[in-house]
Amino acid sequence: DVAICLFSSDLRLHDQPVLHAALRAARQVVPLFVVDTGIADAGFVVPNRAAFLADALADLDAGLRERGGRLVIRTGDVVTETCRVAAEAGAGEVHLAAGVSGYALRRERRLRAELASAGRALVVHDAVITALPPGAVLPSGPGKDHFAVFTPYFRRWQAAGRRSVLPAPRSVRVPAEVRSEELPSARVLCPDGTPSPALPEGGERAGRRRFGAWQRSGMADYQDRQDDLPGDATSRLSPYLHFGCLSPVELVHKAAGRSDAGAEAFVRQLAWRDFHHQVLAARPDAAHSDYRSRDDRWRHDDAEVTAWKEGRTGYPVVDAGMRQLLHEGWLHNRARMLVASFLTKTLYVDWRVGARHFLDLLVDGDMANNQLNWQWVAGTGTDTRPNRVLNPLVQARRFDPRGDYVRRWVPELAGLAGAAVHRPWKLSGPERAAYDYPDPVLDLADGLVRFKRARGLD
Ligand code: FAD
Repeated sequence: DVAICLFSSDLRLHDQPVLHAALRAARQVVPLFVVDTGIADAGFVVPNRAAFLADALADLDAGLRERGGRLVIRTGDVVTETCRVAAEAGAGEVHLAAGVSGYALRRERRLRAELASAGRALVVHDAVITALPPGAVLPSGPGKDHFAVFTPYFRRWQAAGRRSVLPAPRSVRVPAEVRSEELPSARVLCPDGTPSPALPEGGERAGRRRFGAWQRSGMADYQDRQDDLPGDATSRLSPYLHFGCLSPVELVHKAAGRSDAGAEAFVRQLAWRDFHHQVLAARPDAAHSDYRSRDDRWRHDDAEVTAWKEGRTGYPVVDAGMRQLLHEGWLHNRARMLVASFLTKTLYVDWRVGARHFLDLLVDGDMANNQLNWQWVAGTGTDTRPNRVLNPLVQARRFDPRGDYVRRWVPELAGLAGAAVHRPWKLSGPERAAYDYPDPVLDLADGLVRFKRARGLD
C-alpha cells in the first residue's frame, strides 16, 4: 500500500497535514513535487521565486533523506505526471492540500477525474497555506461566501478554533522503484532572466532559523517598529509563508503563547494574509478584475511607468522602495503601500500594471496577497476608505524621518543630510546640479487634482 503526498505550496516537514495524512494512510509514501509547466506557461515563474523554490526543494529533499526518504521530482503537466507516478508506484491515493486560486481549483478537478478513471482516489485536505482555511468562518446572511471587510473577519478569525500543530515525521519510506529527476536548479526552473542580487535563502530550515531569531529579538517590539522603514524590523517571513516552508498555524500558536503586544500585532498580520486568501477563494476573478468599485479612468504614460519601475520618479522615498524591490525581491509593507499609491493614485496608472511588476520580482509574490493588496491600495478592493491618497512626502516624514532609508537605496543622494534628502528639488541651482538625480515626474498637487476629478471628488 502506497500513497502519494503531492507537495504544492507546503514545502515543509513540520506541521505538514498532507504528508501526515499520507503517512497514516499507507506504509510507503511518495513525496512528489511536479515542476508544473502549466504555471510556467502562465508567466508566473520568475527568476527570484525560481531561486527560492530551488532552495526549498533541495532543503525538503535533504530533510526527507534524513528520515530515510527522498523527494521525487517530475516535470510536466501536474495532472499527467501525478497520474504517471501513481501508476508506477501502484498508489491508491493521492493526498493534496486544497488551493485557493482558479488555477488550483481547475487542477484539483482534473486530477480527481483522471485518478478516478484509473480507480485511484484524490484526497483533498484543507488549505494549509493559511492559518484558517478559506470559508472556515463566514459572515451571517444568506448567500454570503466571504468577508469583504477585515475587522469583522478578524474578530471571527480570532474566535475560531485552531487545529493543533503536527510534529515532523520520524521516518518516510519511499518505494524504491519510483524514478526521480534531479533536483532542479533556479536556471532549470526559470531559464530566462537573472535573479536579484540579494535574495533570501529558501527552504524550511532557513525559515525556521529566521523565525527563531526574530521571535527572540524582533517580535516583542514589532507593534512599535512595524512601520519603521530604515529600521527594517519586520519578520521577513513572507517568502517562507508563500512557499509553505513555514506553517502559519504553527506561527500563530507560537505567537499566541506570548502576551506581548508585538506578538498580537504579528498575529493580526497573519490574519490579513488569511483574509486576502478567503476573498480570492470566493472571488477568483479578483486576481484580474476590480473587486468592488470599477475604475476605467486609468492613464498610461510609458515614460512615467518606466521611471516608477526603475526607481527614477524623482521622489526619493518612492525610488528607494522600487530599488530595494529590484535588489532584494522584497519590500517593506510600508514601502509597498506608498509606491503602489504613487503609481495608482498619483500617476493614476492601472493597478494591474504595478501588480504585474511586483509579481515579476517579489520572492513572496502571490495572487491573493499581491493582487488584493494592490486593489486595496488602488481603492478598487476591500479598503473601506478607497479614496485615501498616500502623499510620499508625508509618508517620508513619518516613516523615514531622518532619511536613512533613502540614503541606503538612493546612493546618489547620500551626501544630503537628514530629511533634506526627501526634497532634493528644493536645493539651490548649483547645489542641485551636483546631484545626478531626476526631477519629479509630476507635481503632487497636479496629481491630486487629476485624481479627484477622475473619482468625482472635486
Ligand atoms: P511582517 O510585517 O513580519 O508580517 C508577518 C506576515 O504577515 C508576513 O510575512 C505576511 O505573510 C503577513 N502579512 C503582513 N502584512 C500583510 C498584508 N498587508 N497582507 C497580507 N499578508 C500580510 N504579501 C505577500 O506575502 N505577497 C505579496 O505578493 C504581497 N504583495 C503586496 C503588494 C502590495 C501593493 C502591498 C501593499 C502589500 C503586499 N503584501 C504581499 C503584503 C505585505 O507587504 C507583505 O506580506 C510584508 O511586507 C512581508 O514582510 P514581512 O514578512 O516582514 O511581514
